[in-house]
Amino acid sequence: MSAESELLEKIRELSMPVRIMHICGTHERTISRYGLRDVLPEEIEVLSGPGCPVCVTPEEEIDRAIALAESGIIITSFGDMMRVPGSNGSLMDARSRGCDVRMVYSIDDAFAIANKEPESKVVFFAIGFETTAPTNAAAILRNPPENFSLLLSHKLTIPAVAELIKEIEVDAFIAPGHVCTIIGVHPFQQFAEQGFPIVAAGFEAVDVLLSIVMILEQMNGSGKYSAENAYPRAVRDEGNVRAQEMMYQVFEVTDSQWRGLGTINGSGLKMKPEFAKYDAAVIYEDLLNEKMRDYSYEKSASSLCRCAEILKGKEKPDNCPLFAKKCTPSTPVGSCMVSQEGMCYNWYRYRGAD
Ligand code: SF4
Repeated sequence: MSAESELLEKIRELSMPVRIMHICGTHERTISRYGLRDVLPEEIEVLSGPGCPVCVTPEEEIDRAIALAESGIIITSFGDMMRVPGSNGSLMDARSRGCDVRMVYSIDDAFAIANKEPESKVVFFAIGFETTAPTNAAAILRNPPENFSLLLSHKLTIPAVAELIKEIEVDAFIAPGHVCTIIGVHPFQQFAEQGFPIVAAGFEAVDVLLSIVMILEQMNGSGKYSAENAYPRAVRDEGNVRAQEMMYQVFEVTDSQWRGLGTINGSGLKMKPEFAKYDAAVIYEDLLNEKMRDYSYEKSASSLCRCAEILKGKEKPDNCPLFAKKCTPSTPVGSCMVSQEGMCYNWYRYRGAD
């Protein structure tokens, strides 16, 4: 019997009505790709939370990147991010209008552009969770070229989960393996103590199934919950302390806006004042203030896109009236349809349009 079959048998033994939320786009990909929802007992519901970095980047932060691009600054970004709509189109749309928007695979590629074109101003659109923030912090500590800066849109996982549990019906969490490699498992213990079993998981089907077994074992146990680690080959309980140190050497915690979740206290990162010369928000403050006056968020707020509900696990993609009609991976209307980590993308790719 395969490891997956053994774990499924165990899940069936322990099964109970439970709503488990994961907070990781890569977990959604694994769950969708291997059809795990279809093989779990019906009473076990697995919800997708706000774990896709591209999906949670709000329109306003994309608009700021576009505003810089429209002002003659080279914007460098990961490919997925270029396709996510702001309030008036995406970075890709800005490129088709003649703006200099370039896809990069890492911050080092953006460095290389800045070094190669010293007369140009180059901005790297820095998105993502605790997973990517230390890499960007390390780059800043390497003394980037003077014509290089970061437009920061990093998000922190723990404050988002703290906010989510106030408003959604969920019983347990699968903690994001990549984020846990950096911050460890300890920061999630507070949620276990509030009554939510939580288990860090890796990214193979067997890892996700094991995390569900461990959650069910806790729920079938004494009623005392804890944050556990089902991914010890990559995650240490205390995380990667050096990466955490670098992150907080360069960045400090600030309030941050999330697509679908609104502004969450202490859920983002901003550049520390001593690194202000690499902070696009500071360098281009006047320009951004001027340009952003033209943007309106009323139109997008009334859009039919249901990403806000989907990112909180309150809605399924095929309940969106635009799903697989106006909104497809090649014509994404909302952020959840863009990336391989997005719930709508995965629903479309692995469950189809029906
Ligand atoms: Fe938004 Fe498209 Fe998903 Fe609908 S299908 S919620 S429009 S991303």
